[in-house]
Amino acid sequence: MRPVLIGMSCGTSYPDPSRLLFLGKSLDYGEQRLSAALARAGALPFLLPVLPDTSTLVALVERVDALVLSGGSDVAPGVYGEAPLRPEWAGDPARDAYEQALLGAALAQGKPVLGVCRGIQLLNAALGGSLYQDIGYQVPGALVHRDAARYDDNEHTVRLCVESWLAPLYDEREILVNSVHHQAIKALAPGLRACAWAPDGIIEAVADERRDIYGVQWHPEWLDRDSPHFARRAPGDPVFAAFVARVRARAGLA
Ligand code: MN
Repeated sequence: MRPVLIGMSCGTSYPDPSRLLFLGKSLDYGEQRLSAALARAGALPFLLPVLPDTSTLVALVERVDALVLSGGSDVAPGVYGEAPLRPEWAGDPARDAYEQALLGAALAQGKPVLGVCRGIQLLNAALGGSLYQDIGYQVPGALVHRDAARYDDNEHTVRLCVESWLAPLYDEREILVNSVHHQAIKALAPGLRACAWAPDGIIEAVADERRDIYGVQWHPEWLDRDSPHFARRAPGDPVFAAFVARVRARAGLA
C-alpha cells in the first residue's frame, strides 16, 4: 500500500543584507522537526513551494492526500478585515495569499488539513473567523503565550474537550504544552469547533471533523522523544498519528 502524501506549506525568508548566502533572494523554508514528525507518523511529507500562480498551487495540492499549514509569521489582519493595530503586527500578506490558495484547493478537493500554530490562525481567519492581533495587548489578564527569551521553554496547560479528536490521544483531560504565539483565535470561524482551551480561555485547538480540518495552537512537532521537555509535557507524536490515520481513511488507504 502506498504511503500517505502530505504537502506542507513553506515559510519565506525574505532578502536580508546580513545573509550572504543567496544575497538579495527569497528562500522557501520548512522547519525540520515538522517534516520529521510527519515522517514518523508514516507519511511522506513534501514542501510545497511558494508560487504566485494559484492554478499551479491547486495542481500541487492535487498530488497530495492532505495539507499541513506550518508555523511562522503573523497572519495579516486584512485577512479578517482589520488593519494592523501596530506596524509590527502587519504580518506577511504574501504568505497568507499562498496559504489561502493551498487551503482553498484542499477544501475544494475534500482533503484533510492540519494547521500548526500560525496554521490554526490562518485556518480560522481564512474560514471567516478573526484573531487577536496580540494577546497581551487585547486580552487583559491572559497568560504569557509567547516569551521571546524562553521560546519553546514557555508552556501552559490546555484542557481538552472530552468529545474531540484530541481527547482520545491522552489519558488526562488537561495536558501541558508549549506556547510560542502572540496571536490567537478571537471569533471562531463558522464550522470550526473549539477542542482545547488554555486556563485563560484562549482557544488552543479546533476541528471540523466532518471535513477533517484540525488545528493546534501549540507545536506538537517539538514535543518528540528528543525534546528536553518530553518527560513532563504531552507527547506530540499522537497528534500527527491521529491526523495521518484520518488522511489514510479519507484517501481510501486504510
Ligand atoms: Mn498558548
